[in-house]
Amino acid sequence: MLDTESPLYSSVNVLKGAGKEAEASLAAIGIITVGDLMEFVPARYEDRRLKSPEEAAHDEKVTIEGTIQSEPSVMYYSKKKSRLTFKIMSGPHLINVTFFNQPYLKKKISVGDTVTITGKWDRHRLAVSGQLLETGPYTRGTDFEAVYLLRNAIPVKQFRKLVKQAIDLYGSYIEETLPNELLQKYRLMNRKDAIRALHFPQSQDEMKQARRRFVYEEFFYFQLKMQALRKTIREQSGGIEQKYDLSKLKKLIDSLPFELTNAQKKAVNEICADLKSPYRMNRLLQGDVGSGKTAVATLALYASVTAGFQGALMVPTEILAEQHAKSLHEMLEPFGVKTALLTGTVKGKRRKALLSALESGEIDILIGTHALIQDDVIFRNLGLVITDEQHRFGVNQRRTLRSKGENPDVLFMTATPIPRTLAITVFGEMDVSIINEMPAGRKAIETYWAKEEMLGRVLDFTEKELRKGRQAYVICPLIEESEKLDFQNALDVHAQLSSYYQGKFSVGLMHGRLSSEEKDTVMKSFSANELNILVSTTVVEVGVNVPNATVMIIYDAERFGLSQLHQLRGRVGRGSEQSYCMLIADPKSETGKERMVAMTETNDGFVLSEKDLELRGPGDFFGRKQSGLPEFKMADMVHDYRALEAAREDAKELIGKADLWQKEEYAHLRAVLKDSGVLAGEKLD
Ligand code: ADP
Ligand code: MG
Repeated sequence: MLDTESPLYSSVNVLKGAGKEAEASLAAIGIITVGDLMEFVPARYEDRRLKSPEEAAHDEKVTIEGTIQSEPSVMYYSKKKSRLTFKIMSGPHLINVTFFNQPYLKKKISVGDTVTITGKWDRHRLAVSGQLLETGPYTRGTDFEAVYLLRNAIPVKQFRKLVKQAIDLYGSYIEETLPNELLQKYRLMNRKDAIRALHFPQSQDEMKQARRRFVYEEFFYFQLKMQALRKTIREQSGGIEQKYDLSKLKKLIDSLPFELTNAQKKAVNEICADLKSPYRMNRLLQGDVGSGKTAVATLALYASVTAGFQGALMVPTEILAEQHAKSLHEMLEPFGVKTALLTGTVKGKRRKALLSALESGEIDILIGTHALIQDDVIFRNLGLVITDEQHRFGVNQRRTLRSKGENPDVLFMTATPIPRTLAITVFGEMDVSIINEMPAGRKAIETYWAKEEMLGRVLDFTEKELRKGRQAYVICPLIEESEKLDFQNALDVHAQLSSYYQGKFSVGLMHGRLSSEEKDTVMKSFSANELNILVSTTVVEVGVNVPNATVMIIYDAERFGLSQLHQLRGRVGRGSEQSYCMLIADPKSETGKERMVAMTETNDGFVLSEKDLELRGPGDFFGRKQSGLPEFKMADMVHDYRALEAAREDAKELIGKADLWQKEEYAHLRAVLKDSGVLAGEKLD
C-alpha cells in the first residue's frame, strides 16, 4: 500500500489561510491534500526578468521599474471600460503607461512613487500597457513566475501563498519516487528540489530541469504499469507451447518464389519465438501496404499447423477474405495443409459441411470475415488467431474470436503505420513487430500534385496508360452532390468520365451505398479488367489487389489525411509496372500544402505517419473518437518522445528483474504497481 499516513495526505485545511471556502474551491480543481497542492502543475511561466526598453523588441512583454512623473488620470469609455494613464521615468526614458479597466489603482499610486510595471512594450509610442506588478521597486525573488490554470476557483495570489506555505511546512516529507540509478543515469533533479523548482524556479535552467524530471517520472510510471501489464498478460494467461517443426517451416520458406526481406525474417522469428514460448502471444504486426505481411502471417499459420494446431485469419471484407484464401491455398496446399474460406455467402449444406470439418480438425486454417465469430463456428484446437486491419474490428469481436480456443496466440496486423511513439503508448502492453522494408525491385509509385486546372493533362496522361492496357482508379470524397460541401462527387465524375472516354474506355462506379453484392460485382469486373476505370469513394481503401491498375487519381486530395492518402495510393504499384498517383488539390491551409508535398516526397508509410502526427498532434491522429491515448500532466508524447522511449526501456528492464520485488529501494514502485491493479491483469483506464 502507498503510505497514506504521510503528512502529505493531510487535507489542505491544515494550511493557514485555507478555510472552508478555499478548501471547496481547491477541491473543484482536484486539489484535496497538501500533496495534491504541491503537485499541481503550472500551465506555463511568465518571464518576469527586468527588461529595460532598450533590450525589448516591439510588442514584447517587459517588466520595468520607474518613478511616476504625472498625476494618474482615469478616462471611462463605458461603465466597465476605462483607461488609467500616467508617465514614469525609467532610466533615461519617459514612458507612457496605460492600465485598461483597473480604475481602482488610481488611489494606490501618486506622483513621485516608485512602481514596477509589467506589460507590452510599444517602441514607437514609448509606451507600456499592462499591469501594476508592485507599488515600490522590484522585489520579486523569481524571474520566472508560475502561472496556473485555476479556472477562477481561487485568486492566484492566495494560491501561490498556499503553495509556498505547503512547500515550506511539508516539503521535507516529499519522498523520492524514482530509483537512484535512474536519477543518476539521467542526472535528474531529486523530487523535493524539483517540486520547489516547479513552482518557484530560481532560473530558467532550474525551470527546465524540474520539467525534465517530471516528464520522465510521468512516462516512467506509465510505462512501468504498461510493462507490468504486458508481463502479467503473458504469464498469467497460460498460453500454449507450440512446438512447431522448424525444418518443415524452412521448406515452405524455400518454396516461396521470393527471398524474404530482412524485416520479414525478423518478424517471423519474433512470432515463432512467441509461439514456442509458454506465454500467450499478444503482438502487433505493422507494415506498409505491400510490405509482405500476408506472407509472414502465412508462415506463422503454417508453423502453428506443424505444431498440431488450427489457425484462423479474420479480415474485414469479403473481397479481402477471398484474396487471402486464394493465396494461402496456393502456398500451403502443396504442403498438405487444408485451408477453407468462411464468409456470409457460405450458406446451407456447404456451411454445415465446413463447420463439421473444422470441428473434427480436418480443416487446418480457416480464413474469413467476422462470420468466423458466430457461435456455431467451433474449432478442434485453435492455436493461432490473426486479425488483419485490427482497428476495423471492435474489441469484442477480437475477444470472441480469441475465446474459440484456449488461450491461443494472437497476432494483429495493420497496414496503417502508427508512429512509434503512439504505438508504444497506445499499444504499450503489446509487443510490436515492424516491417519497415519493401521487397526488392518494387518500383516506387511516382506521385504528382496537380491543381484543378491541370486536370486535362492528368486525363491525357491517364489515357496513355489505359491504351497500354492498364487500369485506373479515380477517387472522390463524396458520393453525390452536396449543398454544403464543394467537393467532387463520384456520381458526377462517373458521368463526366463516361462521356469523356465514350467509345474508348469503360468506367465503373463504386460507393458505400451499393449493396455488398453490387460492390462485389463491380470489384470483380474491375479485377477481371472488364472495366478500365473505377470511379469510387474511399471504400476501395482496404486491401484491394488489382496489380494491373497503375493510375490512382484522387480528387480534392486536401480533404484526406496523410495516412488515408497513403492507403489509397497503395491500391496501385502492386504489379511489375511503374505506377502513378495524381493528387488533384488546391489546399488553402499551410498544413494542407505540407501534406501534398509530403506525399510527393516519400512512399514510406512510417515517414508519412510521423509527419501526420506532427501536423495533427496526438489527439487527432486516430480521429476524434476516443483514441485510447493516455493523458499526461506535463509530458508531451511528440515533443518528449526521447524521454518516452528511454522510460520504456528502463521500465522494461526493471520489470524483468527479480530485484524489483525484493529491494527496499523499489518499495514505492511495488506499491504503485499493487495499487494500480495491473498485477491482476486489469487493463489501465
Ligand atoms: P501486405 O499484406 O503487407 O499488403 P502482401 O503480403 O500481400 O503485402 O505482399 C504483397 C505482394 O508482394 C504479394 O504479391 C507477395 O507475394 C509479394 N511479396 C511478399 N513478400 C515478398 C518478398 N520478400 N519479395 C518479393 N515479393 C514479396
Ligand atoms: Mg505460445
